[in-house]
Amino acid sequence: GVVKSTVQSGVMALFAVAGTVPVWIAIAFFVASTGSTAAFYAFTKFGLNLKLRDKGMLIPQLSGSLCVQVVFLVLAPNLAVLFLLALFVTMGYGAIQFSPRQFTIAWLFYGGVTGIAIWLVKDRFGYPGVSGFEIVLVWLWFFLALWLQTNTSAQFSHLRDQLSKKNQELQVSLAQIAELASHDYLTGVLNRRSLIEKLEAELQRVYRTGHPFCFVMVDLDNFKEVNDKFGHPVGDAVLKKVSECANKSLRALDRFGRLGGEEFGIVLPATWLDQGVIAMERLRKTVIEYDWESIEPGLRVTFSAGITTNAAGDTVETMTKRADEALYKAKRDGRDRIVSVEEALPDMPMVDPD
Ligand code: GH3
Ligand code: MG
Ligand code: MG
Repeated sequence: GVVKSTVQSGVMALFAVAGTVPVWIAIAFFVASTGSTAAFYAFTKFGLNLKLRDKGMLIPQLSGSLCVQVVFLVLAPNLAVLFLLALFVTMGYGAIQFSPRQFTIAWLFYGGVTGIAIWLVKDRFGYPGVSGFEIVLVWLWFFLALWLQTNTSAQFSHLRDQLSKKNQELQVSLAQIAELASHDYLTGVLNRRSLIEKLEAELQRVYRTGHPFCFVMVDLDNFKEVNDKFGHPVGDAVLKKVSECANKSLRALDRFGRLGGEEFGIVLPATWLDQGVIAMERLRKTVIEYDWESIEPGLRVTFSAGITTNAAGDTVETMTKRADEALYKAKRDGRDRIVSVEEALPDMPMVDPD
């Protein structure tokens, strides 16, 4: 602002020297231009602008500039083109901060005021002059306007870059949050909520396609004993290892998740019950054959599982209930086994879900 008004005043002084405008106009321009800039500077310096809603004082700045340029357009109509150019640049600077409504108002206002001003001086409207010196001064004014315009655009471009960088950071944070919200913190596998979501999605899908799929509930055997004998950290390590075994042993489409504690759930899409049982026997073997002694001498890990397939009219509740009942039967039959069930088990006693 200060640089701009000083340089413009300087060029005006040179126009006075060239005889394009009277000396008093150059002096008046200097006073008006630097005066309004100084007023704005003082206002900011004393923090008075902070009391205003428009903290950057955009509207006063633009109005001040409009007043000065329009008044001098009328006073020195042979320099009209230069003042219009100055207004053009100021408007461009303001426009980046405008809302669409402010932009329309400012555009119509600037347009109206300059239109009236040009009409008022239409008889004296002219060109600064054709002497070499005057041509240089016109160019100098244009050069300054060009600098301001380019500078504004560069700032805008910088802002846009920062914005896109912030956006990328936000994308990364969102992905991290989504990961945290959908996965179990200990094992890194899907948490209960997302596994149930997968089951729900699979039920929706088979409702349309009619393809079978399997749902499995897995519970580690005598896990309380593992904790009691070897300590809680070993128990945690076992939970992680079992999850790793599952990720290795299952197919890419299968969804393995931790339902809570030492209980896991698996959704096996596009799988018949007998295929599902084979997959679970493979996982059972993988877990049994893992070198648990490498974690703690004497450590052995097995699990029991209940597996079921979708029936007509199934919901999340009916399917988990059936899988849970099959799991309970596997425990009752002696653990370390897979029990499959196609429909509700008629001979099952009511089981307390806890
Ligand atoms: P069952 O064969 O009948 O399933 O016996 P169990 O001991 O596995 O069954 P129970 O439900 O009585 O015990 C589950 C134990 O799992 C209780 C708790 O100590 C342990 N447990 C649950 N969550 C965690 C966990 O996040 N980390 C560890 N280390 N242990 C856990
Ligand atoms: Mg349990
Ligand atoms: Mg258990």
